[in-house]
Amino acid sequence: MSQKIANIISDRATNILYGKEVSEKIESEISSKVAHLNAQNITPMLAILRIGENPADMAYENAVIKRASKLGISTKQFALPNDVSQSEVLGCIDQINDDDKIHGALIFRPFPEGLDDNLIRNRLAASKDLDAITDEALALVFTGKAKNYPCTAMACFELLKHYKIPLSGQVVLVLGRSLVIGKPVSMLMQRENATVIMAHSKTSSDQLKKLSAASDVIIVATGRPDTFGKEYAQSGQIIIDVGMNRTDDGRLVGDVSFDEVADVVDAITPVPKGVGSVTTACLLKQLVESAEKNG
Ligand code: NAP
Repeated sequence: MSQKIANIISDRATNILYGKEVSEKIESEISSKVAHLNAQNITPMLAILRIGENPADMAYENAVIKRASKLGISTKQFALPNDVSQSEVLGCIDQINDDDKIHGALIFRPFPEGLDDNLIRNRLAASKDLDAITDEALALVFTGKAKNYPCTAMACFELLKHYKIPLSGQVVLVLGRSLVIGKPVSMLMQRENATVIMAHSKTSSDQLKKLSAASDVIIVATGRPDTFGKEYAQSGQIIIDVGMNRTDDGRLVGDVSFDEVADVVDAITPVPKGVGSVTTACLLKQLVESAEKNG
C-alpha cells in the first residue's frame, strides 16, 4: 500500500472526505467567472429537461436550481409528462439547441419506456452537452480529447484532486462499468496515469477480494447498497462511494457499507455529503465554461 497516500491522510483530522469543501472551492471559481461573463452582458443559462415526476429527479432538479441561482446562473425548466411523444421530446431538444441564451443542458435519464434513448440524447448539440451524453462527446472521453466528462465521473476526480490523493502510478479499482460513471471515471483515472482495474456484476467475490487487496483507491458505482463491505477493505485505501440509494425507511445510502469500512480504510467519502454535492458543482462549472466559450 502506498506510504505516500497514508502520509497525506494521516495529516487530516478526520478520514471522512466531505464534498462540501470541494464544491465550495469550485463554486468560488464559478462565481468569479460569472462576474466576468456578467461584465460582458452574458448570463450563463442551464436548461433542465425532465420527463415525468420521479421524486429523486425533482429533488435533484430543485437542488441544482437553488445552487445555480446562488451563483447568478439562470435556469430554464422543460418538464414533460410521462406520456410525452418522441417527436415532442425531440422538439424540446431542438428548442434548447436553437436558443442562443442557453449554454448547456441537464437531461434526466433513463427516459420512460417507449422513448428512444439513442435518438434523443444524440439530438443534443455538442456545444450544450455538459454531461457528455452524446456518442460524439463519449468518443472524445475514450480518445482522451474530451473537454467535458460526465459530471459524476468528474466529481470523483475533483474530490481526489482536492484531497491531494496521488493517482499517478497508483492502482485504482472501479466497481461498475456504466457509460455514465464506471467507464468514464476509469478513463479519467488512466488520463492521470493510474493503473486501472474494472470490476462488474460478473466479478466473483473471491476475485474482488484479490483485486481490492491490490488497490490503493477504490471507486464504487454499482447502484446497490452494501456492495463493498469490510471483507474487501484494507488499511491504506481511499474509498470513493458514488452510490445514491434510497432505503425503505427513506434514508439515502451509498454502495459501500460505510459503518464497517470507514474504520478500516484510510479515507472514505460519506453518503450523503460526499460525491453528490461535487457533481452539481461540476455541472455548473462545465456550464459556465460553455458560456465562456460560446458566449
Ligand atoms: P448502473 O447503470 O446500474 O450500473 C451499475 C454497474 O455496477 C454495472 O456496470 C454493474 O455491472 C455493476 N455492478 C452491479 N452489481 C455489482 C457488484 N455486486 N459488484 C461489482 N459491480 C456491480 O448504475 P450507474 O448509473 O452507473 O450508477 C451507479 C450508482 O451511482 C447508483 O447508485 C446511482 O444512484 C449513483 N449516482 C450517483 C450520482 C452522484 O452524483 N453521486 C450521480 C449519478 C448516479 P454489469 O455491467 O455487469 O451489470
